[in-house]
Amino acid sequence: MMSTVNSNAFISQIIDAIIEVVGPGPVSLHEPRFDGNEWLYLKECLDSNYVSSVGKYVDQFEQSLANYTGAKYAISVVNGTAALQIALKLAGVNSGEEVLVPALTFVATANAVSHLGAIPHFVDSEESSLGIDVLKLREYLNANTEEQSGLCVNKSTNRVIRALVPMHTFGHPSDLEQLLLIAKDFNLVLVEDAAESLGSFFKGKHTGTFGLLGSLSFNGNKTITTGGGGAILTNNEALARRAKHLTTTAKISHKWEFDHDEIGYNYRMPNINAALGCAQIEKLPEKLIAKRELFKRYKEEFKRISGALIFEESSNCQSNYWLQTLLLEDDNLRLRDSLLDASNDIGIMTRPVWKLMSNISPYVNSPAMSLEGANSLYRRAINLPSSPALSLGTR
Ligand SMILES: *Cc1c(COP(=O)(O)O)cnc(C)c1O
Repeated sequence: MMSTVNSNAFISQIIDAIIEVVGPGPVSLHEPRFDGNEWLYLKECLDSNYVSSVGKYVDQFEQSLANYTGAKYAISVVNGTAALQIALKLAGVNSGEEVLVPALTFVATANAVSHLGAIPHFVDSEESSLGIDVLKLREYLNANTEEQSGLCVNKSTNRVIRALVPMHTFGHPSDLEQLLLIAKDFNLVLVEDAAESLGSFFKGKHTGTFGLLGSLSFNGNKTITTGGGGAILTNNEALARRAKHLTTTAKISHKWEFDHDEIGYNYRMPNINAALGCAQIEKLPEKLIAKRELFKRYKEEFKRISGALIFEESSNCQSNYWLQTLLLEDDNLRLRDSLLDASNDIGIMTRPVWKLMSNISPYVNSPAMSLEGANSLYRRAINLPSSPALSLGTR
């Protein structure tokens, strides 16, 4: 354990390094940037009156997403939570079943499961990917589940475990190769929460396209934004058609009759949001270059500091570097909190990772494996200012 004097010096060193990269405060964690055709496309929506459920930008945005990610189909929706909820529903998740999700994630991952009446079952994360610990998960499933007529059953709750949902933390891809093998060996459907990882690739293939379905988010703090928004990715034509149908009130197409063949959802993305998305995705390559440049600057600065490491993509991945992440060597909550206080006090926005899902009140009673890896990451990881504008020199 470090002495107080030493830890104060350590904290000043870190804050100086951040200021060296981003300049003096105030600096936010992640700001959107509108330097493309946003005004043009939005004006076109207003001038034409097509701001809502009809208009060309929804189709255009979906096509751009499919082209960029390599998914055969992209279906845009109101937000990333809704995208994951519908993806899980289409993956066959039923009420009363369990879904494996990392404990180290944003609450939306668990909520999307709960919105279907299903139960999130929390799994551990590890340090090399910040994603699900695949070795530990395989051991855990071997010991705690059994196969019953082609389904994976939790031996202690007797519930079916239907799906496995990796989340690509701060844009860093999880070990999708091993996760696919685990899904196959244990009869689980793989559905990816790729909300944070637009622009991130695992072995050259875009995240969110490995599972049967994947979900993206375009919330204001994500790599590109539509104000609020999300999308479902899939290569399966029937699922794509059903995703569009379900998210648009399950209306049967007709010249004038209102008829619906199931209980659908009003989750469609409005045209005005899609217009923003069309302009934003044109600038995605530029934003990714800027984020990578910002990473390099942090890396250079933090090379000099022992006891803290800037998180770097592994060799088989290409990360979008959505949120830059500092990992403290010392597993010391007090040190983390002092650092968060000191930087936020001078207007440099830094954030801890999310409280583990198993520690927030809605989910304290959900099933969970032991979570040493996730707990350690919770105590050691800090997100640093990550806006692409910080390295474009036009903040
Ligand atoms: C942003 C995010 C979502 C989706 O959030 P929305 O605000 O509903 O678009 C889902 N999962 C994770 C991990 C996220 O970071």
